[in-house]
Amino acid sequence: MVLAATVVAAISALAYGPLIPWSPIHPGYRELTLSRARVLYPANSTLPGAYRNADTWIREAERFYGVAANKRVNIILVRSWSDLRRFAPWTYNELLGGASLVTGDAIYITPRVNALRLDHTEFLRHEIAHSVLAQNASALSTYWAVQHLSWFSDGLAVWFGGYRTFGTQADFFNRAETGAIASDIVQSHLVPDLRHGYVTWRNFIDYLDQAHGHARFLAFVHAANREPKNVESLFQSHLGRTLRQASTAFEAAVLNRSFTPR
Ligand SMILES: [Zn+2]
Repeated sequence: MVLAATVVAAISALAYGPLIPWSPIHPGYRELTLSRARVLYPANSTLPGAYRNADTWIREAERFYGVAANKRVNIILVRSWSDLRRFAPWTYNELLGGASLVTGDAIYITPRVNALRLDHTEFLRHEIAHSVLAQNASALSTYWAVQHLSWFSDGLAVWFGGYRTFGTQADFFNRAETGAIASDIVQSHLVPDLRHGYVTWRNFIDYLDQAHGHARFLAFVHAANREPKNVESLFQSHLGRTLRQASTAFEAAVLNRSFTPR
């Protein structure tokens, strides 16, 4: 009986619980097998076309960030909130459109994206960006960066993924007039509204890339991705100024319109 109970528990964890991203059995979900990704989606639905581009976007993200992501990425288009609660109880939040595991090989796209008719392309590309970078850092480093370094973690993801859902460049330039830009970066984990945060952080990343050159900026990204707790000293050593100096200079460049988002 103990063995039988253990087998039932193991199968439940695979098919109905947190192990579903890697499970060969997935009741209620169909599978699309690609070469770099596997997509699970509700059996009674049509898979949005965006997901068929997962291989292409993983390769694009590798080139974009100058890294390799060798683990297959398991993508789940989650059918219902109760499924998300079973699959990823640690990240359960009905405001969430997407989430990635810090191991970089599992992505959850939540029911919110369909419910609000959001853009699957933007959400999937955003999470692919997180996954590709996470595959080049320890899980603890990625976790720490997500918690404490939103400008870096989400700025990089939005830079690749797009930002239509969370604010526009016009909103960003309007907000700059209130003098909030530099503090939205140095205190990025406190920014209450992602509609401000996402475009600001994405633009700051774009600004750093333009100001310091792509190769130099990417070297900083790689180092800070591995050691986010040392971001201040890595910023100084790779880019030759402090994060605070750079964010203040960025704010000035936005206000005098010498910064143009690409
Ligand atoms: Zn994100």
